[in-house]
Amino acid sequence: MKTDLTQLKLEGLATEDNLQGRLPNESEKKRGPYAVIECFEEIPCNPCVVSCRFNAIYPFENINDLPFVDFSECTGCAVCARVCPGLAIFIIDESMEGEKGTIMLPHEYLPLPEKGEQVMARGRDGSELFPATVTRIMKGGKGKTPLITLEVPKEHLQDVRSFSVISEEVTLLSSYEALELEEEAPVVCRCEGVDLDEIRDLIARGYKTVDEIKHRSRAGMGPCQGRSCRQVILNELARDAGVSLEEFEGGSFRPPATPVSMDILAKGSEEDAENI
Ligand code: SF4
Ligand code: SF4
Repeated sequence: MKTDLTQLKLEGLATEDNLQGRLPNESEKKRGPYAVIECFEEIPCNPCVVSCRFNAIYPFENINDLPFVDFSECTGCAVCARVCPGLAIFIIDESMEGEKGTIMLPHEYLPLPEKGEQVMARGRDGSELFPATVTRIMKGGKGKTPLITLEVPKEHLQDVRSFSVISEEVTLLSSYEALELEEEAPVVCRCEGVDLDEIRDLIARGYKTVDEIKHRSRAGMGPCQGRSCRQVILNELARDAGVSLEEFEGGSFRPPATPVSMDILAKGSEEDAENI
């Protein structure tokens, strides 16, 4: 399903039009928890589809396809939300009696909140909505995003898309520091399944450029062509060399810098490829 992405690209916010087809109907909402996927960019990414053992996300014909949920099959198991690198999947449950439902939100800030803690629910644009209670915490693991469940009035389940802790002592960690705090070696290249220990081991064994590490480990050779892992590898190399990232000289990257389909390579341009 194609929607107009002009406003989304300008303001970074999904419109009503973009959200079409993303929600179940009223009877599907009553069945139990369901996944809402707010992923609108056609990027080479598919962990959500391949991780769903219920085949509840319509299969892709092309890795750049957009994911849509088959609500008749979705169980709300949250496996897809744990592996989505874009933090674009939310698990909503409004099947219970009463005025409140729950929303499970991907959350990468550390430290994680405690069960029972009051946090500030926020909307898609980050604006404050209301205080909400944390009812469940699923910690992060190897390559898995922590999921935090909030209790929210049912009428606002489609408004809440993030939260912040209400505390005077908030420690904002860079994503790099957060990687360091994970108990297991975090995954650096999700496309090829290469973790931080493997990258560090290669550096210790004398591989000192991005290209050398790429050829040895395949990190950066998957569908996203290094868009998510390259920065982490560069950080590791610069740190090993004892220089700042700006000063580090082992970061050249060979084309293609973005994924290119074989028909475009064969024909020379996207315009030509459309005419194949
Ligand atoms: S919540 Fe579970 S069943 Fe639903 S789409 Fe995600 S992985 Fe599939
Ligand atoms: S895993 Fe997340 S970012 Fe990737 S296609 Fe699925 S919803 Fe989009």
